[in-house]
Amino acid sequence: MSVEAEKITRLYGRQKALDGVSFSISEGEVVALLGPNGAGKSTMLKIIACFLQKTSGRASVCGYDVDEQQMAVKRRVGYLPENNPLYTDMYVREYLMFVAGVYGLGRNSHKRVDEMIGITGLGDERKKTIGTLSRGYRQRVGLAQALIHDPEVLILDEPTSGLDPNQLAEIRSLIKEIGRQKTVILSTHIMQEVEAVCNRVIIINKGRIMADAPNREVRLLNRAARVIRLELDREADLEGLKKIEGVADITVEEPFVYRIFSNTPRDIRPDIFYYAVSKGMIILGLEQQSESLEEVFREMTRQ
Ligand code: ADP
Ligand code: MG
Repeated sequence: MSVEAEKITRLYGRQKALDGVSFSISEGEVVALLGPNGAGKSTMLKIIACFLQKTSGRASVCGYDVDEQQMAVKRRVGYLPENNPLYTDMYVREYLMFVAGVYGLGRNSHKRVDEMIGITGLGDERKKTIGTLSRGYRQRVGLAQALIHDPEVLILDEPTSGLDPNQLAEIRSLIKEIGRQKTVILSTHIMQEVEAVCNRVIIINKGRIMADAPNREVRLLNRAARVIRLELDREADLEGLKKIEGVADITVEEPFVYRIFSNTPRDIRPDIFYYAVSKGMIILGLEQQSESLEEVFREMTRQ
């Protein structure tokens, strides 16, 4: 596993910013943490990047514990913080050389910095001060900075916020390109971003995970907002289930476990129940993961 989070909780005073968050991310995945402002995204990312202590739970990166093996974690993680704080008076190349020094790249620094400047398309700006760059180019500097020590895991906190549409497209395609070689976790409150860049989405609200699904389901989640998790003792007859009124779509989560997307505000669990019983199937689980998800999408589309 590239990144493992197990029941992470973080309190700020009495407020719970994270409340029992668990997920595991495999090597090569590009995952979005999607949620409205205040959901707990930045808090979660800071904990993985070793920039903030959790209150309880366990987290590891490439098998290294974020509390006990901080140095090992930091070597494997590249982190682009929210709002990308940069030294505006420094020249682009000078700044990247400085970061290379922090990571102890020594004699390799020049080569590595030039490589990063190439990858992030900063060639023409390398002799400018960071303060004179557009926001899009500053994000490139932020990405170059995060990548300089060739980390296995890249953590990007709202990497496209505040960019104009052109810059947005450029940074997204850059992230996609980088994502071919690395594990990437990015946070966003923009649904379209998930479809454009990621292959999995973890929806978070008020410090809790509301859904964890492959990217192709996001549109369904968004449209249906009501998802029912059905677990049976055997394979379901999907065609039959799809005929139930209010069922928009069904995906298979694992053998005998299904995610049923409903497009009606009515609770269709009784219909599913009767259908299963009429077919002689035994229901091992039937849960609705809905209200809160609806709330998340409402919050996000309001902005
Ligand atoms: P997001 O990045 O999803 O917008 P954050 O992780 O920044 O969410 O914040 C989650 C919650 O924790 C919010 O309610 C926020 O107000 C609170 N919070 C974040 N940082 C602090 C802090 N340093 N002190 C107190 N509360 C904080
Ligand atoms: Mg944030």
